[in-house]
Amino acid sequence: MRAQIEQVPLIDIKAVSRSFPKPTGKDVVVLADVDLTIKEGEIVGLLGRSGSGKSTLLRIIAGLMSPSSGRAEFRGQSISGPAVGISMVFQSFALFPWLTVLQNVELGLEAKGVERNERRKLALEAIDLIGLDGFENAYPRELSGGMRQRVGFARALVVHPDLLLMDEPFSALDVLTAETLRTDMIDLWIEGRLPIQSVLIVTHNIEEAVLMCDRILVFSSNPGRVARELKVDLPHPRNRLDPAFRQLVDSIYTLMTQRAETRSVELEGIPGTGMGMVLQPVSTNILSGLIEALAASPYHGKADLPVLAGVLQLEADELFHLGETLQLLRFAQLSEGDIVLTEAGKQFAHLETDERKRLFAEHLLTYVPAIGLIRRVLDERPNHKAPAERFRSELEDYMTASYAANTLSAIIAWGRYSELFAYDEQTEMFSLENPI
Ligand code: ADP
Ligand code: MG
Repeated sequence: MRAQIEQVPLIDIKAVSRSFPKPTGKDVVVLADVDLTIKEGEIVGLLGRSGSGKSTLLRIIAGLMSPSSGRAEFRGQSISGPAVGISMVFQSFALFPWLTVLQNVELGLEAKGVERNERRKLALEAIDLIGLDGFENAYPRELSGGMRQRVGFARALVVHPDLLLMDEPFSALDVLTAETLRTDMIDLWIEGRLPIQSVLIVTHNIEEAVLMCDRILVFSSNPGRVARELKVDLPHPRNRLDPAFRQLVDSIYTLMTQRAETRSVELEGIPGTGMGMVLQPVSTNILSGLIEALAASPYHGKADLPVLAGVLQLEADELFHLGETLQLLRFAQLSEGDIVLTEAGKQFAHLETDERKRLFAEHLLTYVPAIGLIRRVLDERPNHKAPAERFRSELEDYMTASYAANTLSAIIAWGRYSELFAYDEQTEMFSLENPI
């Protein structure tokens, strides 16, 4: 962390909540009672699962959206629109294809009324700093993804903002390109060459957060709130293999799986279970593969999540989706950063395909109320058919349209695999193959 210059926090978020109206009436609360301050000289990370409201919070800070309640202040002033002093780097590059690199970077200054020569000078400086020297006159289509994201950075930096907001800035890049750009950013920051005071970076990548941040806020989902704050005192350059680094990554996994446990245990009867159970459309092939891998050597039914993420080359978020799905279906349990197969999980690993399908079907009917409902409706109707819309609107009583769409995709994929029902994409109809 650099020396702190003044006491008034750069950003002060107090009890901010945000909800969105649903077509069916009731509001969905996306952020609940979020507190957050950002001081000068620090890189703060916001770490949370997809859909937890990270981008929403960032948009509020950027002045692109207002909170439903609570206060959001920048240097003691209420944020009421895009503020001079805050700029944002987006996940996708958001460049104008008909403008050159130089013109794209200058754009941020035009809005501020900076005079032409000064504009050019500042833009060239930013381009130089971010490693785009020689590409001033190239068009975005002539650049690789990594270079385009560098233009995105240059455009955000050219105005010398106090606060740089970054929303998953490396997640659209391949692993190596992301690592290079990340390391370049950290180096520039450490050398004090970035014309900014502070950074707020949103990510769902645990290692990225530990690599870059002075402080990490772990966000919980449904609704999003700050569940935990961690300081990262490791000196730069940080080494992913350093035991202290590993330990921090491990403890964050533990924190995030603890929340997954409480979610499934505590929420009996309220949204999150019953028809409100949110499902992720993870493939049954991958689920079976994971169960098999866990049952076999060297895990014999129990594995450390960070280790497993490394071995399987999965992002934490993907692994959580898989782990939570197995937990939901009672094939595994998440606990203290580990995943442990249940008896049913071990049994599944040793069955033949047809028997696996039967066991899967049994668990779906027992543990996923929406699947039980669909099967009952199909059994009862004389023609054994029902439109997806009938169930989609019911799901939307409990969750946002995008969650409902994901949940329905999962139901369709798992129902097909287990042969509980069939689904026709053209007519959007469920039907029974083997009515009872
Ligand atoms: P994250 O960035 O953590 O993945 P987001 O902030 O993008 O999460 O979204 C959180 C939730 O808020 C999601 O369920 C999303 O569907 C919902 N949401 C975000 N923006 C809107 C909006 N403008 N209208 C309705 N729902 C929204
Ligand atoms: Mg987001």
